[in-house]
Amino acid sequence: MLRRQFIRNTALTSALLAMGSKDLLAFFQQQPAWKIKMLTEEVGVFTERGGTILFTVTKDGIVVVDAQFPEQSQHLIDELKKKESPFKLLINTHHHGDHTAGNISFKGIVPHVLAHANSLTNQQAEAARQKAEDKQLYPDMTYTDTWCESFGKEKICMHYFGAGHTNGDSVVHLQHANIAHMGDLFFNRRHPFVDRSAGANMKSWIKVLDKTRKKLDKKRFMYSVTQVMGMISLEHMRTFQNLPNIFQRFSTSLKKK
Ligand SMILES: [Zn+2]
Repeated sequence: MLRRQFIRNTALTSALLAMGSKDLLAFFQQQPAWKIKMLTEEVGVFTERGGTILFTVTKDGIVVVDAQFPEQSQHLIDELKKKESPFKLLINTHHHGDHTAGNISFKGIVPHVLAHANSLTNQQAEAARQKAEDKQLYPDMTYTDTWCESFGKEKICMHYFGAGHTNGDSVVHLQHANIAHMGDLFFNRRHPFVDRSAGANMKSWIKVLDKTRKKLDKKRFMYSVTQVMGMISLEHMRTFQNLPNIFQRFSTSLKKK
């Protein structure tokens, strides 16, 4: 920890300790649980509870990628409404609840919701399983291979490279900003949760990362983990390319025993 930061933290801790329990409660209630960090002039990330949300405020309107949970997406909507720009599109990277449960807060606000066709099928199946159909806002637009559209100077492309974390994961690429949201396809130096009930496939996941690297070479990547946000370098992606060899060596050594 830097000395100056340590002194600041110590001073804050002392100030908090000096407060009564009522004051302390009021202090924490004033602190919003969510964070918005702008990555460029037009592109930002929202974190609170659930998969990191990416958004862009263009001169043609607002596009949001993923929705966390209803309460969380409402916090984001309240903030973005201050921009006085129309909501144009909500994108889901995949169907999991920590990315789509908040879709419902966008009902009547955003004209379209977009996801991969398999993501819609998975969301419908999961909602039926949980008897939560009335809590969903499903995508009204789907794609299967690639989808692109321009919003102001931003061009947003969705790419499907095969099964990975589920069988409906999209790589959402903001070409102008040079940022890609990979949903749960990519965690910070660890493999994602393997959702076999939704068609996850780890062998195919390696290929998905490889295709992503080839297609979006030299681009920055955003990984989506609760409370973690940032860009990850291409070099970290490359380390995953060695995984098939590591798996191979591991299984061969097991067979020998
Ligand atoms: Zn997921």
